[in-house]
Amino acid sequence: GSRWSLKGTTALVTGGTRGIGHAVVEELAEFGATVYTCSRNEEELNKCLNEWKDKGFSIYGSVCNASSPSQRKELIQQVSSTFNGKLNILVNNAGTNVRKPTIEFTSEDYSKVMNTNLDSAFHLCQLTYPLLKESGNGSIVFISSVASLTCVGSATIYALSKAAINQLTKNLACEWAKDNIRSNCVAPWYTKTSLVKDFIANKEFVNEILSRTPIQRIAETNEVSSLVTFLCLPAASYITGQTVSVDGGFTVNGFQ
Ligand code: NDP
Repeated sequence: GSRWSLKGTTALVTGGTRGIGHAVVEELAEFGATVYTCSRNEEELNKCLNEWKDKGFSIYGSVCNASSPSQRKELIQQVSSTFNGKLNILVNNAGTNVRKPTIEFTSEDYSKVMNTNLDSAFHLCQLTYPLLKESGNGSIVFISSVASLTCVGSATIYALSKAAINQLTKNLACEWAKDNIRSNCVAPWYTKTSLVKDFIANKEFVNEILSRTPIQRIAETNEVSSLVTFLCLPAASYITGQTVSVDGGFTVNGFQ
């Protein structure tokens, strides 16, 4: 039924050409949404758009560096004109990490991670607010990380940026509920993507991860996109302000 469909809805997913974002774009489209996505690499973006067209999906896209304020504004102008000023779903997915011991971070590292992960998500929420409101039924989903909940040695600035996202989720849920906009957050543990390919190629490192992960494996991207999609469905209409981990039990694993 329509509680389990996104037919007739529109969505913006940042960073949809690889990894979790790519899986989210496809799954939202499979549920009937018309999707807009962006990334920095034009060639890769066009390749994805062509593949999606061949699969029969309605997916649009343009190049945008989500860490640039002016490019974010341009992106939302394009999204607004593509979707006639209405947007149902915003998925803030684009993110990056710089891994170093805390004492070695430069101010450039700090700006890069904060701009890409936090400033972009914050500003895109501001920019899309009128469109989300106008749609009559809005849903924002942030891609955080379990690194926002517990220390996982994946770098301090990244953890800070994601922890701020978790709180942004809560504030917007309360502030924008009156506009029929929900706000939720998904916190994955290690997921098979290009962002972490060097780490998950390292057997010793993977064994360390798995020794702490009750469901003894690393996540597939579609195991994350399924929750993102669920949170956008009418079936999730009373769920707002939540951060849900997709982590194979990692964050609840004390010791046995
Ligand atoms: P990938 O690096 O595999 O993919 C990132 C996608 O975002 C690509 O399409 C990339 O394209 C795009 N992107 C990156 N930076 C920007 C930017 N500045 N502007 C626009 N697009 C951008 O990453 P993942 O799929 O692994 O990560 C997605 C999200 O999931 C991130 O927020 C990450 O922090 C989070 N996450 C990932 C985990 C994992 O283990 N993989 C675990 C926990 C959280 P391009 O480079 O061409 O711009």
